Amino acid sequence: MVGGGPVGLMTACELRLGGVDTVVLERLTVPSGQSRALGLHARTVEVFEQRGLLDKVEAKAPVWPRGHFAGLRKVDLTRLDGDHGYALMVPQSRTEELLEERARELGATVLRGHALTGLTQDDDRVTAEVAGPDGTWRLTARYLVGCDGGASTVRKLAGVAFPGTASTVNAVLGDVRILGDRPASRELRRLPGGLFGLIPLDGDLFRVVAVEFDTEPVPKDVPVTLEELRATARRVSGLDLDVTDPRWLSRFGDATRQAVRYRSGRVLLAGDAAHIHFPAGGQGLNTGIQDAVNLGWKLAATVRGWAPGGLLDTYHAERHPVAHRVCMNTRAQLALMHPADRITPLRDLFSELMDLDQVNTYLAEMITGLDIRYPMDDGTAPGAVRHRLVGRRVPPLQVDTAQGRTSTARLLRSGHGLLLDFTDGGSLAAFAESCAGRVRYVAARPGDRAKADDLAALLVRPDGYVAWACSDGGDHAGLRRALRTWFAAPETPTDTDAR
Ligand SMILES: Cc1cc2nc3c(=O)[nH]c(=O)nc-3n(C[C@H](O)[C@H](O)[C@H](O)COP(=O)(O)OP(=O)(O)OC[C@H]3O[C@@H](n4cnc5c(N)ncnc54)[C@H](O)[C@@H]3O)c2cc1C
Repeated sequence: MVGGGPVGLMTACELRLGGVDTVVLERLTVPSGQSRALGLHARTVEVFEQRGLLDKVEAKAPVWPRGHFAGLRKVDLTRLDGDHGYALMVPQSRTEELLEERARELGATVLRGHALTGLTQDDDRVTAEVAGPDGTWRLTARYLVGCDGGASTVRKLAGVAFPGTASTVNAVLGDVRILGDRPASRELRRLPGGLFGLIPLDGDLFRVVAVEFDTEPVPKDVPVTLEELRATARRVSGLDLDVTDPRWLSRFGDATRQAVRYRSGRVLLAGDAAHIHFPAGGQGLNTGIQDAVNLGWKLAATVRGWAPGGLLDTYHAERHPVAHRVCMNTRAQLALMHPADRITPLRDLFSELMDLDQVNTYLAEMITGLDIRYPMDDGTAPGAVRHRLVGRRVPPLQVDTAQGRTSTARLLRSGHGLLLDFTDGGSLAAFAESCAGRVRYVAARPGDRAKADDLAALLVRPDGYVAWACSDGGDHAGLRRALRTWFAAPETPTDTDAR
């Protein structure tokens, strides 16, 4: 793993759950303590719950019942399907701390102060050149995942193109104290001069954000000064802020780019290394965490030697379209936030549309990632109706087992697949036997029948997505095929007969 940011650390956790020796190379000797992202969306909260991480972040974190789209804080998260109808306000630095602790607990080696500087690969391995505190050394591995951020060295060395659009805005942020008159705190607002936000952080600390449009963007490597922050905030908002004690000053933009492929031989890309966009709607880190969870078990299965043919390539097939949509919606948001007068009627109309329940929920599911449906082939016979859950995340369900009440989230903690059997007498037990160690079989009854009224059984991948489901328990051919597709179950004579 190259990069010990949230995505690299989450991927490391997933690989360790899959039983793979994992090394994380991180060039920073100590965590930066900076928090670009301030919140976790519902799908990430679910994933943290499925890995037993939620209790650690949730204890004191504030929750926001509303999200925003194009700065319109109207997105009602409370109506989202599931147990987490909110955004959880956890600073990125805390998420990273938690994931690093977890990765180490699970047995990953995290090497801080080690930067990847070179990369070669052949048919069997990848060799990384690393600059560490004691000089340059080489690390050889079966695979290498680049989670090294938007300027990814891995992506460049692997020769993966990163097409898209360059930044058109000049955006600065500062986590600072504000002396004297402090305007009422506000979220990101559209003003004639651009976008301006004053977001309360800890105590008297505020995040000041100012975005100017249609100016020549200042290069990212030019450090932001307090004076620049003050001046930009004044130009955009008209406010004269007495900012001081900067904890963090930074600039960002709306460059929107996506790697053309997420895999190049034995090198894979995830998180910002694979996609960058304007941070509207709080989606970058969340998308990256989902990349990690999609990739982790597939790469682990490949390294451990049990992966069905083509499994690793489904990572690009499933995740590239997801980030493509994020790039689309963040560009749409920025277009709606442009201060020009000609945009105002369009924005007003969009705001009215957001008052329609269906539109509101559509946007809420989009920015939280709950709308994802991977294009899985579950083996449904041609012409037959595919179960509504196939390709979607498993709904959070309470279930009663012989050992007592538990939940789908808890049953996924080990990182195995799950065959959840609600049929009378647990008639599907034999199917999981051929995938012992990969798929956990659990006979249960739904805790709440109403939530599972069309479910007799379901097969869930380790990342929490439904690979097969049926309402009467009788679709054995479909189950066998899904077990072969995702968990390399051997073919049986019955499968051959069924063709
Ligand atoms: C202003 C702003 C606000 C944002 N708000 C949100 C939000 O609310 N919600 C959200 O989901 N997202 C948000 N994001 C986006 C989010 O911060 C990123 O998507 C997220 O940090 C990506 O994580 P990552 O692990 O892929 O990359 P990074 O966090 O960039 O981590 C990459 C790591 O790789 C290391 N590295 C780089 N090169 C090397 C090398 N050669 N060798 C070894 N290590 C290397 C770096 O030191 C770093 O630790 C925001 C972004 C910005 C700019």
